[in-house]
Amino acid sequence: MENSDSTLPGRQLVPDPVRLRLRMVHEQLERQGISDAQVLDAMSRVPRHCFVPEALWVSAYSAFPLSIGHGQAISQPYVVAFMSEQLHTSPGMRVLEIGTGSGYQAAVLAAMGVKVFSIERVPALHNAARERLRNLGVEGVTLRLADGTLGWPEEAPFDRIIVTAGGPGIPPPLLRQLANPGIMLIPVGDAPHEQRLVRVVRKEGRLSANSLGSVNFVNLVGSHGWARPA
Ligand code: SAH
Repeated sequence: MENSDSTLPGRQLVPDPVRLRLRMVHEQLERQGISDAQVLDAMSRVPRHCFVPEALWVSAYSAFPLSIGHGQAISQPYVVAFMSEQLHTSPGMRVLEIGTGSGYQAAVLAAMGVKVFSIERVPALHNAARERLRNLGVEGVTLRLADGTLGWPEEAPFDRIIVTAGGPGIPPPLLRQLANPGIMLIPVGDAPHEQRLVRVVRKEGRLSANSLGSVNFVNLVGSHGWARPA
């Protein structure tokens, strides 16, 4: 933590995180059409404010993305909920996440009862996420520092793959590591920061893909991604 000074004003700004979380669930997520009970339950339990710097605690449960440093951001609650819902997980599944960031999405998935393998390329974010998840007592998340566009061959295949950064295409290693049946969600776009959220389904050995709408994620950087963060 850069600054854990308890005199920082941020300390008093989340007086009742439980109430704020329930309000986020009812007034943002349910109102915008999220209905999966497992997603709603997980997001009402995971303390989102603990995943951002203290200065942002006041807005941790609001309907916008939050900066987590290093030019990266956690998606707004609705996007996290939508992707979690669209993964159609069941407890015990193995899920690969590319882009650990703060660890929030990984913690939400773990709270839904799946086994999460999450890769981050920025060492400082990876280390901070590791410490945060340990401090929060989150179980069922295994982290790795690497280029996630190469996947995690030693742990493959994965029932589900969720990519939380946007690249120019679908990295072939991720397609190879997707189980049959399997679902992958990945933001894809020709231009950085402007993507369609693509759902890839492998079923009875065949692949199909469709778009779930426009999204705006930070860049997927790596061998099968963009050359630079921005
Ligand atoms: N899911 C995160 C937010 C993701 S922000 C959360 O819940 O907080 C996107 C993250 O993807 C950033 O941390 C960025 O560093 C990471 N990233 C970008 N390209 C990557 C790659 N090739 N492999 C692993 N992580 C990558």
